[in-house]
Amino acid sequence: MPGSELFGAEERKEVMDVLETGIMFRYNHDQQRKGIWKAREFEHELANFVGAKHAHVVSSGSTAVATMMAACGIGTGDEVIVPAFTYIATIEGALLNGALPVFAEIDDTLCLSPEGIRAAITPKTKAVVLVQMCGAMARMDEIIALCKEHNIMLIEDSAQALGASYKGKMLGTLGIMGAYSFDFFKIITAGEGGAIVTNDEQLYKNADMYSDHGHDHIGDNRGMEKHPILGFNYRISELHAAVGLAQLRKINYILERKKANKKVLKEALKKYPEITFRFLPDPEGDSATFLSFFMPNEDLARTTAREFAKAGIGVNYWFDNNYHYIRNWEHLREMKTVAKLPIEILGSRQDYRNLQLPQSDLIISRLISVGIRITWTEEDLKNIIQKMDTILQEVLQK
Ligand SMILES: *Cc1c(COP(=O)(O)O)cnc(C)c1O
Repeated sequence: MPGSELFGAEERKEVMDVLETGIMFRYNHDQQRKGIWKAREFEHELANFVGAKHAHVVSSGSTAVATMMAACGIGTGDEVIVPAFTYIATIEGALLNGALPVFAEIDDTLCLSPEGIRAAITPKTKAVVLVQMCGAMARMDEIIALCKEHNIMLIEDSAQALGASYKGKMLGTLGIMGAYSFDFFKIITAGEGGAIVTNDEQLYKNADMYSDHGHDHIGDNRGMEKHPILGFNYRISELHAAVGLAQLRKINYILERKKANKKVLKEALKKYPEITFRFLPDPEGDSATFLSFFMPNEDLARTTAREFAKAGIGVNYWFDNNYHYIRNWEHLREMKTVAKLPIEILGSRQDYRNLQLPQSDLIISRLISVGIRITWTEEDLKNIIQKMDTILQEVLQK
């Protein structure tokens, strides 16, 4: 729970600015808002922080993902390659646009593997939706080269990876467009919120218009604006943008604290030869949101996770978790929806009910992720290490 640990006077101040003018709408009202433009300011600072030409903030990470796909022209019948270890929003974003999610294998980076992507490519493949999972990067060099080779768009769902980087470039800016989430559990939070970033002016304009019914946002008379395209309302409110802005200004501190705390825990686990760590193609660029490691087998992983949880350690065992792995997505596997989705008419190339992803299963079933907190003290860290040691020595029968 990173950014949300630091909610304080700075966030309150930004919110009060908005409440004092009463203009909670992000566009127009130029006179009444007295120069207060929190969404715009947030976008400006976010673009600067990630080193992208453009940023556009929206109502959530999910709407950012859906907007990103629409802006890139991903639509009905297009195949998009996705991982089965993500949050369902990645998949829903594709389905909402009429696209057909094609699941590919992940590797020890916890992200799509180059071989998995290669095996999933068909002539209908329009994009790879690379999820930079659990705060760090995929094998970027290989994946970027592969997408170039096959002329496929690379877009990043970096919802969990704001501030993480690869060889000095921020995750989210390595493909043609990237998305972030600012929900309550992410690296920084706006309460609810999300953003897309890109260096491509047209894609940015597409996203800006699409997320507000296609309005072009020219002039100060909303009713008289042009609307070159259809879209939907994925706007962020000024109140949420205000919180996000205050949080973004804390991000360097957040990353620094997480990295320092993670380092201490990781060092402590290195004495167990049975434990292997998530592979980080660029360790310097890790956001240190989680300490993710593999146990020798599923049983040991499940037992360890259960004991960690009992001891009060913030632990995730994703294989049994209902949110992040396809194994427990019966709504997707059975295609349970209230309204008919295009995929039901078009049909999917993959049978989601019986999808076989043996490599992903092998990785996720042995994976444990410990959430790294910003506010841990030295004393807290000592305590956690002591608990981990007691449990691991028991589990690994030392
Ligand atoms: C959180 C998350 C989202 C969705 O973000 P919300 O702001 O919760 O809508 C999308 N993709 C991934 C990988 C996420 O973790």
